[in-house]
Amino acid sequence: MEFLYKDGKKQALTFSFDDNQDHDKRLIEIFNKNGLKGTFNVNSGTLSVTADRNPDGNIYITKEEFKEVYKGHEVAVHGVNHKYIANLTDSMIVNEFLEDRKALEELTGTLVEGAAYAFGWHNEHIMNILKTVGIKYSRGVDSTYGFFPPQDFLDWRPTCHQAFENIMQLGKDFLDCPGYIELPLMYVWGHSYEFGRSGNWDDITKFCEMMGGKDFIWYATNMEICDYINVTRSLEFSADGKKAYNPTLIEVFYKTNDGFSSIKPGEYKLI
Ligand SMILES: [Zn+2]
Repeated sequence: MEFLYKDGKKQALTFSFDDNQDHDKRLIEIFNKNGLKGTFNVNSGTLSVTADRNPDGNIYITKEEFKEVYKGHEVAVHGVNHKYIANLTDSMIVNEFLEDRKALEELTGTLVEGAAYAFGWHNEHIMNILKTVGIKYSRGVDSTYGFFPPQDFLDWRPTCHQAFENIMQLGKDFLDCPGYIELPLMYVWGHSYEFGRSGNWDDITKFCEMMGGKDFIWYATNMEICDYINVTRSLEFSADGKKAYNPTLIEVFYKTNDGFSSIKPGEYKLI
């Protein structure tokens, strides 16, 4: 059985951008124009901090506009104050993530169960703390430059950073992805303020235009991909391997000789 993404799509593309600065708005405009979906990792402690109150001069998304700005995309935890967690006690780490989660759930009115590690810093112990506070996946900063889905979603390594010099070529490689990879995934991460500061929005605009509008790509948030891949990993099979049971609430798609088929939630069927 070879799995496919939602609606039988062969590949998935996702984005993850950190630190909730005002530049997110322009990036989201580019995403929306090209039908792309992203996840935005937010430090709730900096929301509404205006330039005159903030020595770094950054302008952050305000609480008032928050829901509207991120509409159609995912919001995820990035630590209340973007602390370097290596030097914190466990209870401080819990607060950094749990209080961020609470604040973002209040703002979005929905569950917030994804994260990105501030400065990418994490280890097995931190991953367990995140699990304890209800986080299902978390992204680091080490690039794989590949298209395999993660083995462990709490140690999710992106394909590449936004400023990777060969990102256009990597995008082309993904569009022409080798068939041996099951559920190929391209995952680009970064900060919208890097485009804002340099004034160079052209590269990401070209990249998004090149990647958008493909009927074989599922454009999804990090959480949608995490949930879907977890479903493919939790199907149950008969002893002879001929029938599969879907114990989850998500329809799962797979390849057949003449295209694709699916197993609906609760369905037990010959595959
Ligand atoms: Zn950050």
